[in-house]
Amino acid sequence: MTEQTFTSELLKSTVNQYPWLGESIDKLREVGHDYWSRGWSRGTSSNYSIVIDRNPVRLLVTASGKDKGHLSKDDFVIVDQDGNLTPTDQSKSSAETLLHCSAVLHRNAGAVLHTHSVWATILSQHYSALKGIWIEGFEMLKGLEGISTHESKIWLPIFDNTQDIPALRREVEDYWLKNPSSQCWGYLIRQHGMYCWGSDLSQAIRHMEVLEFLLECLGRKMSVL
Ligand SMILES: [Zn+2]
Repeated sequence: MTEQTFTSELLKSTVNQYPWLGESIDKLREVGHDYWSRGWSRGTSSNYSIVIDRNPVRLLVTASGKDKGHLSKDDFVIVDQDGNLTPTDQSKSSAETLLHCSAVLHRNAGAVLHTHSVWATILSQHYSALKGIWIEGFEMLKGLEGISTHESKIWLPIFDNTQDIPALRREVEDYWLKNPSSQCWGYLIRQHGMYCWGSDLSQAIRHMEVLEFLLECLGRKMSVL
């Protein structure tokens, strides 16, 4: 990752206030380059965030329309729990910022990652009538928090794609409300991509790698049968 300094006074002063955040921003830039290289974040798609504070909620999220393969230190904005820019004189935040806020508020996420991978896009369409995918028997399931054996079966929900992000947020939260005991590490949006999260950035990265790996296994298995 190329060394850079902030030109944004806001980000500079926020990192002064939360010194660990500087390293997290560099890590998110690395994640962007990694996901872009893997084909998970092409064409400025996808978005990433990390919780700066919970009281009140402050979230660092990628600014809208940035090339995730080459994020600069300044390609981030700060929003509140409703996705509003705080302060308001910043670039636009990612269009799907509300979905990040939702995972932070309702899943206690410390970091949220979103990808537009080929397998997530294809399989979310293939299984859309079932509104989710059962994944079972894989050793890699143990990479998900709370799973200790390959003899586990997880449900990855699928929601319909829409440009009405507040409506999608309500649908996702409604699913969590109706399934309070169901573990949920992430979800798919039909012909769009995947959201996943973790209690911190490392866990969110691990969950994304595991879920993407599992989807690729399912997809490749279907294509060779
Ligand atoms: Zn997206």
